[in-house]
Amino acid sequence: MGGGIGLFGGSFNPIHHGHLIVARAVAEMLRLSRVVFVPAPNPPHKPDARLADASDRLEMVRLAVAGEPLLECGDIEIRRPGPSYTILTIQEYRQPTGDQELFWIIGADSLAELHTWHRVTELVELCRIVTVARPGFELPDLGGLEKMLSREQVSRLKRDILSTPRIDISATDIRRRVAEGRSIGYLVPTSVRQYIEERGLYRLGDAPPAAGGGPCQRNCG
Ligand code: ATP
Repeated sequence: MGGGIGLFGGSFNPIHHGHLIVARAVAEMLRLSRVVFVPAPNPPHKPDARLADASDRLEMVRLAVAGEPLLECGDIEIRRPGPSYTILTIQEYRQPTGDQELFWIIGADSLAELHTWHRVTELVELCRIVTVARPGFELPDLGGLEKMLSREQVSRLKRDILSTPRIDISATDIRRRVAEGRSIGYLVPTSVRQYIEERGLYRLGDAPPAAGGGPCQRNCG
């Protein structure tokens, strides 16, 4: 059997080369058999003009990973009714994959807020949380995690901070560029850029979210 499986969750609104480059780096560094991108669903009853429909975000992930053997697209969270808790995704992946170790990949910005995630103390026991580098988030504040987790759990998280390539690309910037009519070439794969153009996504830009709305539905509620 191959190595472990990496799972990379996010809104992927849209997926960009930052996600893709770090995902492949993690797969190579940890000798994973694959990394699966897992887009989160849109929050029910909370329309948010900034967030493309889940089916569009999923399709863009599919297009982005096409032809890259180490990377895959997973619709597990978009198909599942109810809140999109990472712990449920990990539990679901555990069943068919048996003994294969699971790695949940997050950016350094997400590590600082991991303590707010649903059932985080269990989550860190069920999988390895691997943190990838992200420019602007060099030394995440682990104060929140130190209050919730044991010393051993926190040291494990620190050990799993990987020195991956630093790619300064964000989906927020990509959406803003589209809204301003500027090019997003080199920031996303060509197939994703064409999809955004054909579907007319992100033309309205980053309007403030509707009251109570969030960027996507993950680990909240
Ligand atoms: P937005 O700008 O809309 O907040 P984003 O670019 O941060 O989007 P997400 O889909 O929210 O992208 O990110 C999913 C995961 O990927 C998060 O854990 C985030 O930290 C990580 N991530 C996003 N961009 C990068 C990047 N350039 N380098 C490393 N990790 C990243």
